[in-house]
Amino acid sequence: MRNEIANFKDCKSIAIMGGTFDPIHNGHLVTAEAVRHRFKVDRVVFMPAGQPAHKANKKVTHNEHRYLMTVLATMRNENFEVSRIEIDRPGATYTIDTIEELKKICRPDVRLYFITGADAIHQIMTWKQPERLLTLCDFVAVTRPGYDRAKLFEDIGEIREKYASRIHYMEVPALAISSSDIREREQKGEPIKYLVPQEVEDYIHKFGLYHDDMAKEVKFMLSLETMQEKLQSAISVKRYIHTLGVADEAVKLAEIYGTTQDQQKARVAGLLHDCAKDYPESMRQRFCKEYKVKTDEIMNKQTDLIHPFLGAEVAKREYQVMDEDVLNAIRFHTTGRPNMSLLEKIVFIADYIEPNREKFGGLDEARRLAYLDLDKAMAYILENTIEYVKARGRLLHPLSVEALEYYKNL
Ligand code: NAP
Repeated sequence: MRNEIANFKDCKSIAIMGGTFDPIHNGHLVTAEAVRHRFKVDRVVFMPAGQPAHKANKKVTHNEHRYLMTVLATMRNENFEVSRIEIDRPGATYTIDTIEELKKICRPDVRLYFITGADAIHQIMTWKQPERLLTLCDFVAVTRPGYDRAKLFEDIGEIREKYASRIHYMEVPALAISSSDIREREQKGEPIKYLVPQEVEDYIHKFGLYHDDMAKEVKFMLSLETMQEKLQSAISVKRYIHTLGVADEAVKLAEIYGTTQDQQKARVAGLLHDCAKDYPESMRQRFCKEYKVKTDEIMNKQTDLIHPFLGAEVAKREYQVMDEDVLNAIRFHTTGRPNMSLLEKIVFIADYIEPNREKFGGLDEARRLAYLDLDKAMAYILENTIEYVKARGRLLHPLSVEALEYYKNL
C-alpha cells in the first residue's frame, strides 16, 4: 500500500474516484478522465469501497475481485492510481475516514476532489460527518444522461447554500453504462464486450463472477446448526474451536478464489474435516470395518493418518454429506495429493493457517502465500509438514511426497 501512496502523495491536486466498482466499467474510466481534464488534477485515485456503509444487507462482490478489476482497468493510464486504503480498513467504509487519512499522507495544501455518482451525493447528509467532509474536499457529482439536475440541487439545497462552491456537477454521456446492467447482462449470458475493458471482461469470465449459478445454494441434508451440535458431542472443546477456525478461514479463502457455492462447501468441509479425529481406538476400528474404509500399511502403523479417510465416510453417513468434492476435501486434508481440487486445497491450507493456531515457524509465511497463490502455499506447507513429520520420526504417507513433487514442479 505504501508504494501506491508514493505515486500520489506529492501531488498538488488529486481526484478520488469513489465507488463500489462492482464491476468497474468504461463509463467510470471516461468519467475519471473527463474530471481530470476539467479540474486539471494531477492524478485520479480510484478508491474501491471496502464494506459500503449503506449496503450492509446487499451482496457485494469480494473486495479483492473489485480491487483487481480496478487495477486491470486503469493500468494503461499513468495518471490513474488505485488505492487499497478503503478495502484494507476493517469495518464499514466511511468517506470521511478516507479523506482524513489522505490528508495526513499528502501535502498539507493538497486540493482533493471526491468524484462519485450523483445518486450517492443525494444522500450526502446521511453520510458520516457530512459538514466536516465538505470542508475537507470538493465533490463532483457525476450523472448519467437525462438525470434530473434540478432535483439533485433541490435535494442538496440545504448543503448547497452553505457549500455552493464545494459541489460540482458533471453529466457524462458514457455513464449510460452501469455496473448493475453489466451484472445483469453477464447473468443472462449477454455480451459485455466494449462496456468494460477487455482485461476486466476476461477477469469476470475467468472467475465466473455475476453468474446465476454462483448464487444458487448448495443443498446439504442437515442444517449447519445440526451438524455443529452433532460435532460438538463427537470432538473435544479444543478441537471444536480449531474446527470453527478452519471453517472460517476456508470460507475466507473461498471468498477470494471461489464462488458462493465454494464458500458453502468450504464451511461444511472445514467443520467436518476432523469429525472422526477424537474417536477412541475401539470405535475407530469398528467404524473402519463397518464403513469399509481401506487402510494401507502406513496408515495401519501410523494410525492418526486414518482419521481423514474415516472422517469422509463419517461425514457421508452420519452427517449425510453427499457432495464428492466436500468428501474429498475431508479425505485429503492431512496427506494432500497431487492435482487437488480448489476446495481440497482450501481446506488443506485453512487447516494449517486457521487463526486459533498457536504460533509456529513458517505460519506467517504460509498465511501470506495462502492469500497470494494457493499452489505456492500448498508446496510450502507440504514441505514444512514433511520436515516436521520426519523430525519427529513419524511415518510419512507417500501421497504427501507425491503432492509435494506435484506442487513444487507446477
Ligand atoms: P452506488 O450506490 O454504488 O452508486 C450510486 C450510483 O452512482 C450508481 O448508479 C453508480 O453507478 C454511480 N456511481 C458510483 N460511483 C461512481 C463513480 N465514481 N463514477 C460514476 N458513477 C458512479 O454508490 P457507492 O458506490 O456505494 O458510493 C459511492 C461512493 O460514496 C463510495 O466511495 C462510497 O464509499 C461513498 N459513500 C460514503 C458514505 C459514507 O461515508 N457514509 C455513504 C454512501 C456512499 P455504477 O453502479 O455504474 O457504478
